[in-house]
Amino acid sequence: MAIPEITRFAPSPTGGLHLGHAYSARLAHAVARDTGGSFLLRIEDIDTVRCRPEYTAQIIDELKWLGLDWDGPVRHQSERIADYRREIAGLTARGLTYPCFCTRRDIADEISRMQSAPQGPEGPLYPGICRKLDESERAMRLAAGEPHAIRLNIAACIETLAAPLDGFVETGRGAAGQTGLIAPQPGILGDIVLGRRDVGVSYHLAVVIDDHDQGVTLVTRGDDLFMATHVQRLLQAVLGFAAPRYRHHRLIRDASGRRLAKRDQAQTLAALRASGVSPAAVRASLRLNQ
Ligand code: GLU
Repeated sequence: MAIPEITRFAPSPTGGLHLGHAYSARLAHAVARDTGGSFLLRIEDIDTVRCRPEYTAQIIDELKWLGLDWDGPVRHQSERIADYRREIAGLTARGLTYPCFCTRRDIADEISRMQSAPQGPEGPLYPGICRKLDESERAMRLAAGEPHAIRLNIAACIETLAAPLDGFVETGRGAAGQTGLIAPQPGILGDIVLGRRDVGVSYHLAVVIDDHDQGVTLVTRGDDLFMATHVQRLLQAVLGFAAPRYRHHRLIRDASGRRLAKRDQAQTLAALRASGVSPAAVRASLRLNQ
């Protein structure tokens, strides 16, 4: 008997769904149903600047049109901001975060001044400007009400752990074919932002808290988030959460091989639906076993 898996689909309502989302949702749903587990729907709408309620309604409608059903109520991250902020405050009280006053411009200038700026998988990492501030300057700028983000101090997190950080289990193909127990690289994205200036909470923190809180056993998502798993694993460890397992899946690409994005109108469920394509035809085109 397979372990009953609790899976989730966690879209950000910055637009309707495209075929890539449909693939992700269908895969998570199929795993839950095949193992007698549960399939959860979580709307990741903490970014009030980019997310809109009408897209949430559209996403729910499109999932139903695709023939998917989920268990329990839909979770909306925008209703849980106070919980996420409480965790940030806890990490701050433990000395695991620091305020970052940098603008994008400050960061870019510092990187161009450095001889070898630290690099991540998607470009240069935050060069640690505000990590190096002395306490009195930090206190003064905070007292003056200077706008700031909250960053995770990766080195302090690693130091605080009682045991070496475990890796995570990748049960899918993983990115770059990595599968099985993946050795942790917690610093791979640098000192990530946990609380943004504008929004107050970041994706990494909210996703880790909710996956834990909702008892998710198998995180299924596109392999563009494979690298993010390394820092999410560190967050789980410092927050005392057990790690779920992961199944990162291939990204759906357009005819020219580019990954689908919200700009690719032809591949949205709304466009396919409007042109008379049936949900059964969409489901068949997704080829879940590949
Ligand atoms: N909300 C994220 C997105 O739409 C996905 C988060 C996740 O699956 O971990 O890209």
